Amino acid sequence: MQIFRTIPEFRNFRKNLPREMKVGFVPTMGALHEGHASLVSSSAKENDITISSVFVNPTQFGPKEDLSKYPRMLEKDAEILEKNGATVLFAPSTAEIYPESPSQIGFTIQSLGDKLCGASRPGHFNGVVQVVSLLFHIVRPDNAYFGEKDFQQLMIIRQLVAEQHFEVNIHGCPIVRESDGLAMSSRNLYLSAEERSQAVVLSQILFYLKEHYHQFKDADAVKSFVSEQISKKSVMRLDYFEILSEKGLKDIAVWENTEKPHAFIAAFCGNTRLIDNIPLFS
Ligand code: AMP
Repeated sequence: MQIFRTIPEFRNFRKNLPREMKVGFVPTMGALHEGHASLVSSSAKENDITISSVFVNPTQFGPKEDLSKYPRMLEKDAEILEKNGATVLFAPSTAEIYPESPSQIGFTIQSLGDKLCGASRPGHFNGVVQVVSLLFHIVRPDNAYFGEKDFQQLMIIRQLVAEQHFEVNIHGCPIVRESDGLAMSSRNLYLSAEERSQAVVLSQILFYLKEHYHQFKDADAVKSFVSEQISKKSVMRLDYFEILSEKGLKDIAVWENTEKPHAFIAAFCGNTRLIDNIPLFS
């Protein structure tokens, strides 16, 4: 696997690739786990070469968030990428990606970005879209792979691609979970043993709701149930729970609605914010 740390070196490599070669791309922030590995191996199966990036993007972190302590382990990441079929690792510095600090050009997102994680983390998706757009310009992939773990992010990236006419196919990949159901996340590394054992309640709630949500009167009744379950866990605090339509992430007022209902949860486990989601229809 080749590793590039600068844009000119990467571009030199990219421009020498034969035009007919299909390029798959997996952007990440590193501290890789099997969730990331599944994206890389999907890309490796479906493309001639797979480029992955490791870049902890400062513009998607709020001022009080974990940018400085976000786990960084590039050597281990490189091993995981290579093992799963990546051909190239692009790992630029912050100054390489953002020569102007603070950056002068950005994006704003309308209704898709103002709910769920967008409401809890103001500006987060503006930063995500900014860096994904930059990386798409540099990497010029045919196919790009994103996890459904960050479902709202995946929807916003599809919107970005549609509105900005990027010539890339976006592939959503299923959530990879630990054996007890907890969605894999780089942030799980922050959890103490006690926090880790309580964190599983998030996926337990979602799996329960997938089977039973029709037994609740309405969305408010589900929300009360979820709050109660979380409040029983001493180290956990609910950030949000919502049931929205899968398409457009719109409120669902009526259960019998034909729109596909999708449940989203975010909670703090100690100081670590974890997210998860599940389609409620099958
Ligand atoms: P991150 O490094 O957290 O920015 O994630 C990079 C990519 O990996 C994003 O597209 C995530 O949605 C995806 N990802 C993270 N965790 C998982 C998981 N447990 N299962 C599937 N994809 C994931």
